[in-house]
Amino acid sequence: MRRVIEEVIDSGEFCLGHFVEDFERDFSGYCGTREAIGVGSGTDALWLSMMALGVGPGDEVITVPMTFFATVEAISMTGAKPVFVDVDELTYTMNPDLLERAITSKTKAIIPVHLFGHPADMDPILEIAGRFGIHVIEDASQAHGTRYKGRKVGSLGVVGCFSFYPAKNLGAIGEGGAVTTDNSSIAEKIRRFRNHGQTSKNKHSSVGWNSRLDGIQAAVLALKLKRLDLNNSLRRNVAKRYFDALKSVGGLRLPIEAEFAFHSYHIFAIQVEDRAHVMNALDTGEIGHSVHYPIPVHLQTAYLSLGYRAGDFPVSEQCAGRFLSIPVYPELRSEEVAAVIDTVRNCLVTAAAN
Ligand SMILES: *Cc1c(COP(=O)(O)O)cnc(C)c1O
Repeated sequence: MRRVIEEVIDSGEFCLGHFVEDFERDFSGYCGTREAIGVGSGTDALWLSMMALGVGPGDEVITVPMTFFATVEAISMTGAKPVFVDVDELTYTMNPDLLERAITSKTKAIIPVHLFGHPADMDPILEIAGRFGIHVIEDASQAHGTRYKGRKVGSLGVVGCFSFYPAKNLGAIGEGGAVTTDNSSIAEKIRRFRNHGQTSKNKHSSVGWNSRLDGIQAAVLALKLKRLDLNNSLRRNVAKRYFDALKSVGGLRLPIEAEFAFHSYHIFAIQVEDRAHVMNALDTGEIGHSVHYPIPVHLQTAYLSLGYRAGDFPVSEQCAGRFLSIPVYPELRSEEVAAVIDTVRNCLVTAAAN
């Protein structure tokens, strides 16, 4: 990694430049799209995609409340209004059965989120969107390498949005993001928007922004992309051990991998009723854990003005109350996986006996 960083330093191509172009080519090839456009972050990938699709004030954009805040924040930054559809209770992604009733004459785009690395059920979402002439933007920030019916996510909607935040399955050594698409006119717009609306030096055909991917991040990402499939398979191995060891334990719900899915296990979230108890046991065993996400976005203070209240999206709310993420990263050692299993199992088996 230090070698490629030095190469970038020697070349002086720090903002855009050929390291970015090379990575864009590699990443679009990996995702199976004609184009990939490197941008400043996953949040920017979402925002610039919506800008390129003409989303703005007066429009509505549908997404899910069980996601990272940025999905919804990007909608707000365009001036459009976020509208929520609850998630499915098994896949934790947008429930297609609830989608149609959320569509109005103002709906301009739909953003399913491939949460935790599990793909959303894209076919029914694309069918409904197609019928109404609405764009589908994939939030694939947690799903590098995830597949839906054999096809890579990021290649299914009109655009796919990726984050390269360091903790993601494909992570930079700082901030970064990308948009994938087969649509060359959208790609051209996003390339322009990420660089101040410039068509050539000192010629600005529209207002844009500064959201350029930098050369060092691109060079590191190109290197790490070569290991992405291996790392995802290591994540899948850890997940398989959790399934085998925990499937018969009462008092917890494991994630699923739907028939249509190839899961990349960005996050392994179990559901437990007494979360605090299991978190305590993990703390005692010095095992890392987290909650993604304890407050669904419709109940965040920032979105009080949308007028939603507790009870509006019961599946997301129940998940928020019960989710607990346990370690699933590729470098996890076998004995560490065993320690997680023992801790969770002992905790729940003891609880059941009392
Ligand atoms: C990480 C993430 C983002 C935002 O990406 P950044 O690169 O941090 O801006 C957006 N959506 C989801 C679902 C994410 O997990």
